[in-house]
Amino acid sequence: MKRLTMEEWEKEYIAGQVERFDQKYTLGRRHQWDLELKERMQGLPPMPAVSDNPGLTLIDWAMRVASRSMVPKLELMNLSKPNRGNTDPTTNLFTAIDRNLKPPDGARLDINDPVLMTTNIKKAAEQFGADLVGICSLDQRWVYSHTYDTKEGEGGHRPQQIPDEYQYAIVLGFGGGYNLRRYFPTYINTWTSNGRRQILANALLSSFIKCLGFKTIDCTFDDVALAIPLAMQAGLGQLGRHSMLITPRFGSSIRLGQIFTDLPLVPDAPVDFGVTEFCNVCNKCADSCPSHSITHGDRTTKPITISNVGGELKWQFNPETCHINLYGYKNPCQICISVCPFTKPYTIFHRMVRWFVDKTRWADPFYVKMDNVFGYGKSKKADNFWDEWEPRKYYE
Ligand code: SF4
Ligand code: SF4
Repeated sequence: MKRLTMEEWEKEYIAGQVERFDQKYTLGRRHQWDLELKERMQGLPPMPAVSDNPGLTLIDWAMRVASRSMVPKLELMNLSKPNRGNTDPTTNLFTAIDRNLKPPDGARLDINDPVLMTTNIKKAAEQFGADLVGICSLDQRWVYSHTYDTKEGEGGHRPQQIPDEYQYAIVLGFGGGYNLRRYFPTYINTWTSNGRRQILANALLSSFIKCLGFKTIDCTFDDVALAIPLAMQAGLGQLGRHSMLITPRFGSSIRLGQIFTDLPLVPDAPVDFGVTEFCNVCNKCADSCPSHSITHGDRTTKPITISNVGGELKWQFNPETCHINLYGYKNPCQICISVCPFTKPYTIFHRMVRWFVDKTRWADPFYVKMDNVFGYGKSKKADNFWDEWEPRKYYE
């Protein structure tokens, strides 16, 4: 695995002017105001149906809903976002709790050794539940120019500025289990992408930093900045053809959180472990995507919808058709994550394969072929799932 300088990273991924992106144009927000999109989604069911099919039964659905159920509640606790609305009745309670998050004597910890502080922050993040931790200088290009509060509609469309004192972004990664990913497309496959671990770890690490006497902006819900470029700059992984992060440890099965802070830290270097070359010949996600949202061919800087960011050199992805598919396909999806050859358990065998993928990139067509020969990327039947499932083997 190569460590890149920021100049090398820039050359690899940026090929034009990057304008700060407006959150209003993310699919989660367009869903609220974009009449044309609404029309295209007319009549599609809001959730896949519960049925007698293994993986899609009531018990499977209940696990999916339960896994996500804390997310809106925990969101109320996040007071540090610059554009947080103040209309919620719980705000006063959480503000009072937050007031106590400071050093006992009010003095900041002296940071004589930012290298040691960085090591300690990473240890704390792991203790709070993060699987991966990286640091980067906060690149304001990835901060949303405006945020869009769906509860307030157009009135909640506000410019957003992060003060210059927030010089660093701590990026946390949370691995999704390989085991569950194999049962696609069912509810089981989506239990891993629920965000509950991410929200808690972010909030706890944020509190820890405040107790040291420093400031934080906790970007728990991807609603302050674009998560993936920050994660790449912080050395967590590379961008895949499916427009998601690919990490050496968890492949594409990863969730991200970020904390912006004025705590002096030492940035990590971006990494290159052969993803771009591999995706150039792989195409498994593009071939498997039921909505054809993932493009074949080469990387470009040309956006294909108003929800794409310009200036980045990447395989363009159509979030509109993906979003519509999630509603219209009648099955939970995330097939692109499951079929990705990088999404594998962290066994000696798969680590060895990853080493070869990194070191002998000219042989990538052979590795893709072998992935297919070994039957990876095929869905596993969920008929006996509840008998066989061992949650302790989450990462296997
Ligand atoms: S989630 Fe499904 S529809 Fe969306 S890009 Fe992935 S495979 Fe395609
Ligand atoms: S499935 Fe293949 S092409 Fe798609 S992101 Fe994974 S490695 Fe890249």
